[in-house]
Amino acid sequence: ACNGSNGSRAHVNLPEIKFTKLFINGEFVDAVSGKTFETIDPRNGEVIARVAEGDKADVDLAVKAAREAFDHGKWPRMSGYERGRIMSNFADLIDQHSEELAAIDSLDAGKLFSLGKVVDIPSAARMLRYYAGAADKIHGSTLKMSRPFQAYTLREPIGVVGHIIPWNYPTTMFFMKVSPALAAGCAMVVKPAEQTPLSALYYAHLAKLAGVPDGVLNVVPGFGPTAGAAISSHMDIDQVSFTGSTEVGRLVMQAAAASNLKPVALELGGKSPLIIFDDADLDVAVDLARFAIFTNKGEICVAGSRVYVQEGIYDEFVKKSAEKAKGWVVGDPFDPFVQQGPQVSKAQFERVLTYIEQGKKEGACLLTGGKSLGDKGYYIEPTIFTDVKEDMVIGSEEIFGPVMSLMKFKTIDEAIQKANSTRYGLAAGIVTKDINVANKVSRSIRAGSIWINCYFAFDNDSPFGGYKMSGFGRDNGLAALEKYLQTKSVVVPLVDTPW
Ligand code: ADP
Repeated sequence: ACNGSNGSRAHVNLPEIKFTKLFINGEFVDAVSGKTFETIDPRNGEVIARVAEGDKADVDLAVKAAREAFDHGKWPRMSGYERGRIMSNFADLIDQHSEELAAIDSLDAGKLFSLGKVVDIPSAARMLRYYAGAADKIHGSTLKMSRPFQAYTLREPIGVVGHIIPWNYPTTMFFMKVSPALAAGCAMVVKPAEQTPLSALYYAHLAKLAGVPDGVLNVVPGFGPTAGAAISSHMDIDQVSFTGSTEVGRLVMQAAAASNLKPVALELGGKSPLIIFDDADLDVAVDLARFAIFTNKGEICVAGSRVYVQEGIYDEFVKKSAEKAKGWVVGDPFDPFVQQGPQVSKAQFERVLTYIEQGKKEGACLLTGGKSLGDKGYYIEPTIFTDVKEDMVIGSEEIFGPVMSLMKFKTIDEAIQKANSTRYGLAAGIVTKDINVANKVSRSIRAGSIWINCYFAFDNDSPFGGYKMSGFGRDNGLAALEKYLQTKSVVVPLVDTPW
């Protein structure tokens, strides 16, 4: 049963917070303004630490350092092999500190410690190694010209890049952006989310220990409209990668256009469908649907927030889902038996509860959950609505919390039509034993990732990003390197050559 924030069985020493200042040009420094902000423990609303608050003046200093490191430093000029070796060192250091790093993210973001130490943190190290291995395989091509010229392309690092990252996966998002940019030879300024700045600062420290030259990786915590906007509008930043809400993605793109027309890559919101056909193994499908929405307390851009179930198994599915949701254990993220920690912040907690109220008002049926849990911290019951329509607020907007909408469908075409009736297009899941159905649906859905008989099946080598208003540009895979590279054509006339 849900145990709220009480009755913790956690036996973890909370981490000591060692890094709370901005990391610029290889040094931890105070903000120019001297200001700091609080980062809060979502288990109880208490202050974990005060962190230096970066703003435009600090972003300017970080960009200056990155500019110097890129324009004159050795990072973009050393061999890809050497960059890869340093990135591998960085990965090893992450593995050596995995428990401490997982604990920092649990404390800062309310993420499960049990998952962090075996999934999030080791995956970050693996991601670094994946791109470390790519660093010495970046090359252009020889071109076949229609005139007597010889031409080839050079792949050059794009320059100084800005990374604006969200709070739901502080570690994964950091390395999704930083790893390919390092491999490409870029210098960078990273702004972690104001809710979760702590692990990014630790990674800055590890990067320096690993041998990343000063100025290549700068970390400037701060707020969105100040530090974030200073990055997206900066005249000396050559590219910005952003993960966050569609609303803020639009602001980032506007600022980029209004300043120096820097290219942007946006990984934005989602309202991802999970479509379950009659032939599915019912218990497996119920578990998958629960996993797809309640993992990480629903704070996942690809969460399977709209679950479409075919009519033959719908009633049974609803019954079992309600039972299973009640058995999902909510509580202290350091407790190894807990499956769902607190929402990241008071603001998110209130936002999710407001959506739940809205759902009730709009006439959706609250099957289970719907309330906060415990008397402190930001815990919410796993919540399921039925009879949700795609034009309701809860059926169309990203809730970013543990709220599932369960809906019924009859035919394949109806499922496809409903799944696509969203302005988002980040991911979708399909559960069926029929390969022809899986093929038809996967090719009909306009979304960047399709998971057949699985969910959240991320891999370093599998490009990830959005269709429609879920953004553009790809993280992961060799595709992510493209964002951090320029292509230059070099052409020379051929004089008196045999071919
Ligand atoms: P969420 O709604 O999930 O909190 P946001 O899109 O608000 O996500 O935030 C994602 C990241 O974007 C955070 O690092 C945040 O500080 C930053 N951000 C917020 N507003 C702006 C802005 N106007 N310009 C640039 N970055 C911003």
